Amino acid sequence: MAELRAFAGPIDLHTHSAVSDGTETPGDLVRSAARSGLGTVALTDHDTTAGWGDGASAARDASVTFIGGMELSTRMGHASVHMLGYLFDPADAALAAETERIRRARRERAQAMVEIIGRDYDLSWDDVLAQTIEGGTVGRPHIADALVARGHAPDRSAAFAGILHWRSGYYVPHYAPDPLTGVRLIRAAGGVPVLAHPATGPLERIVPEATLARLVDAGLFGLEIEHRLNTPAGKERLRELAARFGLAVTGSSDYHGQGKPNLLGENTTVPAVLERIIAEATGSAPIYA
Ligand code: AMP
Ligand code: FE
Ligand code: FE
Ligand code: ZN
Repeated sequence: MAELRAFAGPIDLHTHSAVSDGTETPGDLVRSAARSGLGTVALTDHDTTAGWGDGASAARDASVTFIGGMELSTRMGHASVHMLGYLFDPADAALAAETERIRRARRERAQAMVEIIGRDYDLSWDDVLAQTIEGGTVGRPHIADALVARGHAPDRSAAFAGILHWRSGYYVPHYAPDPLTGVRLIRAAGGVPVLAHPATGPLERIVPEATLARLVDAGLFGLEIEHRLNTPAGKERLRELAARFGLAVTGSSDYHGQGKPNLLGENTTVPAVLERIIAEATGSAPIYA
């Protein structure tokens, strides 16, 4: 069991840096978290831990505790399911191999989308690359930024509502493992898995109980209920599910810098839940403020 200390200040367990689709470097994100008055911040870039080093060293200088995390892309049929993982071993071979596979698939998929979009709009792969950092995880947000830079959309949200929408005719899916594999990979790497924003659509799209039961058996720790995209009815349903399955409840901002309106600390997680995450994690430890 890792060293456990008391937590002062609000806890935000879901943020993105420019290593995936946020807009700040991990270090700047940690400094923003300190300035916003957070006591603890988890960096959860999509499918990569490349920002942990910069985030952790910034946390040593700022008065904020740093939790290494990731938002793993998984897929159930056509539905994209995001699995947060905390304090796993970033060098775990199986998890690293899987995230590398996902990042490669994301890049090929983005290239395929740009190819199709490029038939109707002036847009090149170099335009998209200009919006990413070397080795970062490429996603639709970077294509959105490139479309904005070319004047084809006023902002990211408009690009998502139009050209990048899954019904637009320009959408291409990418490989991702199923959620059960995601939970197993995170646990096998010594981490703690939490299902991200599980109720963003209609109630019937919430993960079915039988599926949830299998995820719990495999080691699912919690549900991210306090998130701006979960619907009010969805949150109510998730609270029932959390009680029935003995799952922890988290809340977080899903901050993306300037890439989304979400503000650091707009939802938070209670210290007792973070303490349990740290107690269960065997892959890595927090960097304490
Ligand atoms: P992808 O995983 O590449 O298909 O892109 C999905 C990502 O785009 C999600 O992780 C969100 O962070 C981001 N996203 C989705 N909708 C929007 C939006 N309306 N505005 C900005 N970012 C968005
Ligand atoms: Fe994102
Ligand atoms: Fe997500
Ligand atoms: Zn996220």
